[in-house]
Amino acid sequence: MNLLNECREAKRIGISAHIRPDGDAVGSCMALYLYLKKMLPEAEVKLFLETPPDSMGHLQYLKDIDSEYACDKTFDVFFALDTGSERLGKAESFFESAAKKINIDHHISNQNGCGDINVVEPQAGSTAEILYGLFEEENLDVDIAVALYTAMIHDTGVFQYSNTTPRALQIAARLIGFGFPFSKIIEESFYQKTYLQNQIMGRALMESIRFMEGRCIVSCVSRKMMDFYHVTSSDLDGIVNQLRNIKGVDCAIFLYEINLLEYKVSMRSNECANVARVASFFGGGGHVRAAGCTMKGTVHDVINNLSLHIEAEFKENEKCTMES
Ligand code: AMP
Ligand code: MN
Ligand code: MN
Repeated sequence: MNLLNECREAKRIGISAHIRPDGDAVGSCMALYLYLKKMLPEAEVKLFLETPPDSMGHLQYLKDIDSEYACDKTFDVFFALDTGSERLGKAESFFESAAKKINIDHHISNQNGCGDINVVEPQAGSTAEILYGLFEEENLDVDIAVALYTAMIHDTGVFQYSNTTPRALQIAARLIGFGFPFSKIIEESFYQKTYLQNQIMGRALMESIRFMEGRCIVSCVSRKMMDFYHVTSSDLDGIVNQLRNIKGVDCAIFLYEINLLEYKVSMRSNECANVARVASFFGGGGHVRAAGCTMKGTVHDVINNLSLHIEAEFKENEKCTMES
């Protein structure tokens, strides 16, 4: 796909990504927004996202994001980034009614794409990496570079997760050539946590429970707990990774309550379980090593239902079969 050619005739262009946006969702949207504004100055470009997490505070032009989704006109082109249409939230209707729908994503669970034009590359570590390939390199600038780099560090765990490829590192090398303070961004955007974020992480770790001979671990944060620590869902980022770091654990499950008897599920695995398959079964999706879904029922129902599927994943993988 030639990105600019697809947008050349458009007077109104819209961009959005998934609900509860993470670093890749916010960074990719911001990079595309800045690039299109720069390259197509005649077009009206609108960016819709739920309020970004505080960890994105270093990005320029955050104030341009419309989190009210106030819009009654249709779009000539609408981009869905880092998701299929089902998790666009309030932007889904803008996407569906657009004259041209473009989907750019790297989730294996969205292999076919949801647009008229689809650029879905499951081997890419982040949506930002795909965007980089669609941008003309000579037209990048430092603000676009920071947005792309931020997206990449969040989805690759600062180039540590198994989705990190030589290409990702080559792109990152080009981006840091723009001379922004990348180590400060990594520290403040990815690693640094507030006191309360650390407190609730500590609580979640303390209350975690191991099962399947210690190869699975689960922890749950209730609404009441979130209210007690004055935190919102984006403050819980990183808890599931910390659970997965525990020696002997292959699969980590983290739940938080979104409504009465309804939980957001995050799963991470090291080697044995294809968690994208487990999440997809329950109507969610993601990647082989990181996936999520929303499930109804009590905490025990949710864990029981998930563990059946995770056990099946372990059994499928020869070297992960449980000792009996
Ligand atoms: P999370 O556990 O929310 O950090 O998500 C892990 C990965 O799975 C991310 O790439 C998410 O975009 C993706 N993911 C999470 N929830 C869903 C869902 N309900 N449907 C599809 N993908 C999801
Ligand atoms: Mn994402
Ligand atoms: Mn992503």
